[in-house]
Amino acid sequence: MRSRKRNWFDRGVQAFARVTKGTLPEGYLCPLCYEGDGKPFTLYLPDALNMELLSEEDVPPRSIGGRRIVLTCKDCNCTAGHTIDAELRKMENVNDFWGRRLPRNRACSIEIDVLKVNAHAIWENGKLLLTNYARVNAPSSADQMTGMLDRIAEAQRTDWEFKLTLEQDAWKRGWA
Ligand SMILES: [Zn+2]
Repeated sequence: MRSRKRNWFDRGVQAFARVTKGTLPEGYLCPLCYEGDGKPFTLYLPDALNMELLSEEDVPPRSIGGRRIVLTCKDCNCTAGHTIDAELRKMENVNDFWGRRLPRNRACSIEIDVLKVNAHAIWENGKLLLTNYARVNAPSSADQMTGMLDRIAEAQRTDWEFKLTLEQDAWKRGWA
């Protein structure tokens, strides 16, 4: 039986042949590193599969629910793959944040003036809750933040702002 990889490879070869109309050898282009516009590219000849120069890539990345549907070169799978993965996760975070979908606590940091603390963010009933900061910071910085927020509240200041940064990978570390 033909392997899934072989099927993907052959489809890539056929697509390339249709475009080049036989003016170039048969081969497979890695869809991630092929830049077009006459730039140099690597053409993977039929032996490439046996030599394990190509591997299966998850699209979209596995971390956001992707599945394996394309062959890429090993370099892309190892390096560019991670970059794309990270970029897509960032995009997901931004979309989730503005769509008010942070279904579970997401690690983040909060900065007010010169003070920066770690916290967890979650949307609940249309409100953004920042929680747990007493648990994920040194007690002194948590106390400083509490003091800062108390002073802002007491002074009824309306001119303050804070910066919230969602951490990409920190939440994976399993802070509970
Ligand atoms: Zn590649």
